[in-house]
Amino acid sequence: MSNLLVMKFGGTSMGSAERIGVAAKISAEQHAMRPVVIVVSAMSKVTDLLLDSLRKAEAGDQADLDRNLKTLFTRHFDCCRALLPPARQEAALAGIHRLISEFSRIAKGCMMLGDRPPRSTDEAVAIGEKLSALLMAEYLESQGVRARAVSGEDLIATDAVFGNATPLMEQTRHRCDSVAAPLLADRVLPVVTGFNGSTLDGRPTTLGRGGSDFSASILAAALDASELWIWTDVDGIMTGDPRLIPDARVLDEITYSEAAELAYAGAKVLHPRTLAPLIERQIPVWSKNSFAPEKPGTRIVAQLGREVAGGPHAVTSMAEVALVAIEPANAGVSGTRLMAEALEALDAAGVELLAITSSSYRQSFCFLVRQSELKAALEHMQEIFALELTHGYVKPIQVDSNVGLIAVVGEGMRGTPGLAGRIFTAISRHNINIIAIAQGSSELTIAIVVRREGLERAVRAVHEECGLGCLVP
Ligand code: ASP
Ligand code: MG
Repeated sequence: MSNLLVMKFGGTSMGSAERIGVAAKISAEQHAMRPVVIVVSAMSKVTDLLLDSLRKAEAGDQADLDRNLKTLFTRHFDCCRALLPPARQEAALAGIHRLISEFSRIAKGCMMLGDRPPRSTDEAVAIGEKLSALLMAEYLESQGVRARAVSGEDLIATDAVFGNATPLMEQTRHRCDSVAAPLLADRVLPVVTGFNGSTLDGRPTTLGRGGSDFSASILAAALDASELWIWTDVDGIMTGDPRLIPDARVLDEITYSEAAELAYAGAKVLHPRTLAPLIERQIPVWSKNSFAPEKPGTRIVAQLGREVAGGPHAVTSMAEVALVAIEPANAGVSGTRLMAEALEALDAAGVELLAITSSSYRQSFCFLVRQSELKAALEHMQEIFALELTHGYVKPIQVDSNVGLIAVVGEGMRGTPGLAGRIFTAISRHNINIIAIAQGSSELTIAIVVRREGLERAVRAVHEECGLGCLVP
């Protein structure tokens, strides 16, 4: 649809009556000028609360479950009272009651089963977004903007991988054409719940934690939007984590590939899968701060508008990672085959590979995973290499959790000689041991695994060496 703007408001941008008021004002301003779809997250911390409630239910902990339900209700009740004019409160409160009862019904089911089936979990956690979409739509209506809360289930078609579903774009387009397009044609602003979708046969799914960004990009692609704005609580994508690097700077422009690399390597600003749906149609994205809407934010595009300066654009890091090393016991065992099997096992375990390096001489290789996924990775490794390990063809699998990952990212690193040398020298100047290095042939990212205790110092050293900070100290 021509000139369509999709905007996504994250949990902090929806975190209170005041914040919803600001998000609604931004939405109304844009809606006055062009067609707009907004995608909302649950109010901040609500998804955590819902997941915790399901765990309590599974454990049979009635008192804690009741306490959580009360917190959930009070949060939305108070917000409703503060946000809406009295005449609208009753209907909105009835909606809040209905949604929370639905959640509590699913939680009771989990309690009876002593289990949290993934499908029920997805249905239950999406209620956080349904609550915030309801409040937002009611408030927009009270401000004279015609708006309608729409569940992501009715728009986004996905596979049946509950908890981490992948969109089926063609079917999503059909759903958008039949559900969202008529609303837009009628000048109604759809307020879509982020995070959720449903399978082709209508079973509710979710897109993974932080998935509302992904929802927004899926919808932007399916509706042929001309822009996507992602509203968060930071000024945009930065050259480094400002908590580690005081002089980190907001980038004015960055490419899809750079942003995706940064997101996969730990930068919290975007859900890693967000950019993929936008690439084909080259829909530009803005990362903006709803606490400072006058600031321009960062523009994410297919290609930079200006000449790329040599060198990286940003540095990011991940602390909660582990390095797993696998080595054949003798030259008769093919390292390539072991690697193929290991990758297959990781895929089957749903574990994401953050970096991989190999040595051709000893045919050994090591790869980096999140600590949260280490257990699953090792279980699958032990299983797939059971025979080799028992017969001593493969050495015992080594795990090193005392490590951290640094990723140095930038289109300008391509074909810039000497850069890796400068980066490694900067790190070694601080006496920090480099354990593994990976650079893909795209030359977009250099991933460096260092000892955990040196991680923060290494990140600062690289940021400074590459001249990424503010020009004026
Ligand atoms: N509410 C979901 C979460 O916290 C999705 C999102 O906020 O993006 O993971
Ligand atoms: Mg988020």
